[in-house]
Amino acid sequence: MTDGTTKDPSTAPVPLTPMKINFGTLAAGGSALNPFGPMAMIGGDAPAAAMPASGGPLAVAVAADTGRTESKVLIVGSGPAGLTAAIYAARANLEPIVIAGSAPGGQLMLTSEVENYPGFPDGIDGPELMGKFRAQAERFGTQFADVDIDRVNFSSRPFRVWARGIEYRGQSVVIATGASALWLNLESEQRLRGRGVSACATCDGFFFRDREIAVVGGGDSAMEEANYLTKFARKVHLLHRRDGFRASKIMIDRTYAHPKIEVHTNTAVAEVLGEAHVEGLRIRDTRTGVEREIPMDGLFIAIGHKPNTDIFEGQLEMRNGYIVTRSGLDGMATATSVPGVFAAGDVQDHVYRQAVTSAATGCMAALDADKYLESLAK
Ligand code: NAP
Repeated sequence: MTDGTTKDPSTAPVPLTPMKINFGTLAAGGSALNPFGPMAMIGGDAPAAAMPASGGPLAVAVAADTGRTESKVLIVGSGPAGLTAAIYAARANLEPIVIAGSAPGGQLMLTSEVENYPGFPDGIDGPELMGKFRAQAERFGTQFADVDIDRVNFSSRPFRVWARGIEYRGQSVVIATGASALWLNLESEQRLRGRGVSACATCDGFFFRDREIAVVGGGDSAMEEANYLTKFARKVHLLHRRDGFRASKIMIDRTYAHPKIEVHTNTAVAEVLGEAHVEGLRIRDTRTGVEREIPMDGLFIAIGHKPNTDIFEGQLEMRNGYIVTRSGLDGMATATSVPGVFAAGDVQDHVYRQAVTSAATGCMAALDADKYLESLAK
């Protein structure tokens, strides 16, 4: 799924890039590269200004031929939370617009096999699962804009969201912008990103056929990536800074049992070695501080995520970067500090962070938005 062509990381820079799918240029009907099939693209063509609403507070303006810019519910983000919110909102006749982001689908687009999403006993690829979510949302009339938001204003209703200079207005908003991969933030790691350093095994594992590579982290993501990478690599080293893991027991057991994986606990990466591409690692024993260099062809970082909330700073109450939602004891569990703005998925959840819990909170956010809109109409 990357746009690179080099397959031999030992002889040339490895063109590793985050997976991006250019939906706009694909033929109708989809392709192997496009799990979503044809999509309505309104970002580049929509009118420069929002159409004025008419006919009461919940009326929806429609721009002829180009897509709406006003909705009863605007959904920002298109992972399991955003798309489930869209399915429920569309079926409740809220005519949702999803501002899906320029790399739609959320983190599952970067996930290989999903084995714990109910309903798929044999597992399913993350991108395929998200394609099904999106098709289901589209079936009920959800409109998509595959663009990133630039700015929001939640100080009054209709709430406003800008993307590529276009103003979208919603009588309510569901925020489902998820989280992004964290990096070690070593100078050498950043310099060699795309040259053997990656945060996406699904995107870039292919480039490491018969190579020796390392994965950093001690959570489920690291275990999953290490296991996935054994499909390609000759050997995978899992490097974790402690001797206790956050990963689930089943993943730990599977990782230790895998003949191609070697687990190194109490091990940190001090430096990624190489000029044009990764050639090795300087690793540190976190108990003794002793460092040594080992040859390595690639490095995958799987150390967790940061919620994508920078753009909402100052508009919504947050704690440790996550949007604060209510406890749910008195209903409207996904309500934020601004009435009418709801949050779902990883952007408000630092505890569970599963596809199925994200989807569940997306459903709750759509139901909460519906209830909120009904209360306005009374
Ligand atoms: P995580 O559980 O937060 O684990 C992150 C790991 O990276 C931890 O072991 C942490 O070490 C390590 N780490 C963090 N910062 C580091 C640094 N600067 N240097 C070295 N190591 C560092 O993150 P995750 O694995 O991405 O999982 C997130 C959530 O998604 C979890 O709830 C997980 O269950 C879920 N998930 C589920 C599946 C699945 O069910 N199929 C797959 C992937 C993820 P410490 O432990 O020392 O802090």
